[in-house]
Formats: sequence, structure tokens, C-alpha cells
Amino acid sequence: MPELPEVETARRLIADEALHRRIADVDDSDTFVCRPHSPGELRAALTGRTLTAARRRGKAMWCETSDDGPDLGIHLGMGGRIVVTSPDGQVAWGGEPFRRDAQPPKAEWDRFTLRFADGGGLALFDKRRLGRVRLNPGIDALGPDAAEVTPAQFRDLITRGAVAVKARLLDQSRIAGVGNLLADEILWQARVSPAARTDSLRRQDADRLYRALESALRSAIGRGGVHTGDVIAARRPGGTCPRCGAEMRHGTVGGRSTWWCSREQVAADGQRPAGS
Ligand SMILES: [Zn+2]
Repeated sequence: MPELPEVETARRLIADEALHRRIADVDDSDTFVCRPHSPGELRAALTGRTLTAARRRGKAMWCETSDDGPDLGIHLGMGGRIVVTSPDGQVAWGGEPFRRDAQPPKAEWDRFTLRFADGGGLALFDKRRLGRVRLNPGIDALGPDAAEVTPAQFRDLITRGAVAVKARLLDQSRIAGVGNLLADEILWQARVSPAARTDSLRRQDADRLYRALESALRSAIGRGGVHTGDVIAARRPGGTCPRCGAEMRHGTVGGRSTWWCSREQVAADGQRPAGS
């Protein structure tokens, strides 16, 4: 599932390849992906304009458009990608990696398409059809972006209240962009139990988590996605910690499947994930 790093690669692709190209036509006929808009509404709003900037907060992405046009929100859903075609037909993509696909892509998996006057285009490629395209998407409910949160903001949001720290990392209204894999990676790097309660974290725990967040994001963006994290391959039955060799444990935190090192990620307050 795309997390901040995957969405950031999609945003950078749009920023590098799709801005300032005149939109000649729009295929917005997928009424599920384009809900609540009716067919032709996005076309009418966007045709003749250009994309002028690509923005992101957490997993939410949107493009500004020329002549005071509406923002074009594109959410990658559970496995979407942005595909940009150049005027001479070169194809570039950003978003969820192709590693899970055995089948060749089908044309109908392009759920929304901008056709540029130069002959190229931009498509939301989304096999699972859980992405979404909408004008002027609301982002007010999202917390600060995980890549831009300051150490002081982070310390405050990660220690307040009394919930499992992993649940807090996943709470998009507190910090936007961290999904399930990134949360496990950050907690493992910082040697913090996913079940530790936020009010049990000491200042040094919060600071270690902040440094882990920064390094995990930087690494995942550089390597092409959250699946490249150092502990991700060990998230399986029989997996061992890549750092200390101890057995990896599995349970549920915040309703999500969670893996952690049985030796290094033990909560000082004795909290343990459900099912462990
Ligand atoms: Zn370990």
C-alpha cells in the first residue's frame, strides 16, 4: 500500500514531467474513482488548463492548475501509480512499485487520464480501483506531514495521551504519511515496542523515534518504497531480527498486523501487542 515515500515518488514524477503541459482532454468516465463528480465534470474543469504545481501532505496529493483553476486531488488508494507519457511516447511511473504484479498491465486499469496537447498524458493506473480523483480535496483533517514535522511537534504528538505508540504513528490526523510497514520499520529502528503507551515514552525514546522516522523516510524515498526497509523482509513467521538475530514476534496493534524484535522492542511499561 502506498505510504508517504511512494506518494512522494509519484509527486516528484508529476513535478518533473507533467507540469505546464496543456490539457487537451480528460477521461473521467470512471464514476467510482471520480466520485462524487459526474462524468464530464472533471473534463470541463481541467481542459485547456495546465498543472502548475504538485503538492503532497502525508498520502494525500494534489496538483494546482493554471488560471485559478481548481486543485486536482489524486489519491493512490491501495496500489495506484501515476504514469506520465512524454510527447514522444516515453513512459515514466511513480507510486506503488511493480514488484507484486505478475500480469501485464491492462488499459482499463487506467482509471483517470489527462491527455496533453503535446501528445503525451498522465494516468492514474490502479488495478485495484481504490484510488480516487477529486477536485479541491480536503486536507484539513490531516496532521503535519511526516517528512516536515519538527522535532518539537513530533515529541508532543508522540507522547500525548495513552494509546499504543504504533497506533499514534498510524493516526493520520496526528501525523500524516506513516502506514503499517513504515511504522514497524521506525519502531524497530528506534528499539521501541509497538505496544508501548505514548505516555510511557521518555524524551530520549521520542527523540530516537524522530531520528528513525527521518532516516526511514529518506531511505525509503531513495530506494523506491517502504518495502525496502531494513526489517521488512523479517516480518514473517520464522523471521529473525536483522540487528540482533532474535526471533521476530507477531501481533496486532491499532488493528494492524505488527512485527517486532522479541529482544530489543520490549515495552518498559509491560504493554504487549494483542495476540502475542
Ligand atoms: Zn533485535
